Amino acid sequence: MAEQTDREGTPGWQPGIGHRLPWLGSQVRPAPLANPRWVGWSEDLAATLELAPDEATLALLSGSVTPLPWTPVAQVYSGHQFGGYTPRLGDGRGLHLGERHGQELFLKGSGPTPYSRSGDGRAVLRSAIREFLASEALHHLGIATTRALAVIGSDTPVWREQQETGAITVRVSPSHLRFGHFEYFYYTRQQAQLAALIEDTLAHHFPDALAAPNPKLAWLEAVVSRTAETVADWQAFGFCHGVLNSDNMSILGETFDYGPFAFLDAFQAGHICNHSDHQGRYAFDQQPGIGLWNLNRLAVTLTPWLSEEQLKGALARYEPVLVARYLARMGARLGLDAPQEADLALIGGLLNLMEAAGADYSNTLRSFAELDPASDDTPLHRRLATQPGFDPWWRRYQARLGGVTELGPWQWARAQANPALILRTHLAQEAIAAAEQGDNAPLARLHRALCRPYDPDSDFDDLRDDAPSWSQQITLSCSS
Ligand code: AMP
Ligand code: MG
Repeated sequence: MAEQTDREGTPGWQPGIGHRLPWLGSQVRPAPLANPRWVGWSEDLAATLELAPDEATLALLSGSVTPLPWTPVAQVYSGHQFGGYTPRLGDGRGLHLGERHGQELFLKGSGPTPYSRSGDGRAVLRSAIREFLASEALHHLGIATTRALAVIGSDTPVWREQQETGAITVRVSPSHLRFGHFEYFYYTRQQAQLAALIEDTLAHHFPDALAAPNPKLAWLEAVVSRTAETVADWQAFGFCHGVLNSDNMSILGETFDYGPFAFLDAFQAGHICNHSDHQGRYAFDQQPGIGLWNLNRLAVTLTPWLSEEQLKGALARYEPVLVARYLARMGARLGLDAPQEADLALIGGLLNLMEAAGADYSNTLRSFAELDPASDDTPLHRRLATQPGFDPWWRRYQARLGGVTELGPWQWARAQANPALILRTHLAQEAIAAAEQGDNAPLARLHRALCRPYDPDSDFDDLRDDAPSWSQQITLSCSS
């Protein structure tokens, strides 16, 4: 179907890829939430989309009315889950509503679809809030991610381990295509559809690749680079995704499909945030390798067109791009001028000290913003100096810096690289507990703070502490 232009009553809306490529999924009407109400709203994103949190928008986004002249679409995909191939997945609890200003709006939790399998098509309030907060937090940290426009709560009962209520997260991204979409058409031998899907992806999201001598190869190279950069950012900011199945990997390299994610509190290289991940496949320190593993799954889908040599060449870009990005991020955090691969040992040494001390990852790094590298009594000393290897590490660090001539600007630059606030699991939990009781103020306040993570505004000082010990008891799993 040709793209439709604005129609009366729905200015600014376009139907999007699901209507350009009708075999990409099924048209499905949302199942409305009972007594829908706003729980979260992202002002800055709403402004770019030109949407207001009024009754009409609430009715549209909660599935109560469908004023758009087309039906929303649930897309089909497949994917490698925990290492094994699942031949058919798809949007089992979400619908593509349409596009505004080049952004797809996706209702997550809008009821059953042909891809729901045994699921109820719903999302519970706690998981909707977690996705909302995480997308906003990563975006404002400067990490590529899908966005979240809103959380809508309701009285719709949803049964998990206990009765909860249904909610919708309105997810926003230029594309919701996952590696798994391409895997689905490859493994079902629908090569014409796979070619058309790739062509559409290139035309809408990878214009540079489209103009290259070999567009499919240039596209794979671009996806490899973007994925490597995003994974490097996760490692630098202590973000653990939790379910890096290939159906949760965005073709744009965005952080995608938030489930049992966590930012590290005390640094632990092998931290497993997902209690359903018994083998630690998606442990924090496994993420770089898993990113490449998933890219290999994507590369397989291009075997009809690209040689083994071409595929291997594209995939070989992953490690250098990831290392360069990680060095740039960590170099900035530590204040290293022109970071080199040799600096990985210095960074690794600091991580080992943090792990041995059980030191908080983000707050230890934030202390570089108040650090005088010429002093031997700094906030870093207060966290790590009792560790046996600290003194030699500190001397190596001082030697690497080679003296800081102007302390103020040096510290200011560290403050711009080291967030003063991250989305800790217990902070999300407190906001969720209040919202479940009908009080959305703590969520709104946490959201406001996460929109300025580098800003040491004293209004939010109570959100900056290391995690309390009770936060270790919070269990995160795939049940959401
Ligand atoms: P996720 O764990 O959210 O990445 O979902 C994995 C797959 O299960 C996707 O195909 C989802 O659409 C589907 N799914 C997850 N939860 C539900 C649910 N409550 N109802 C229907 N499908 C679901
Ligand atoms: Mg998923």
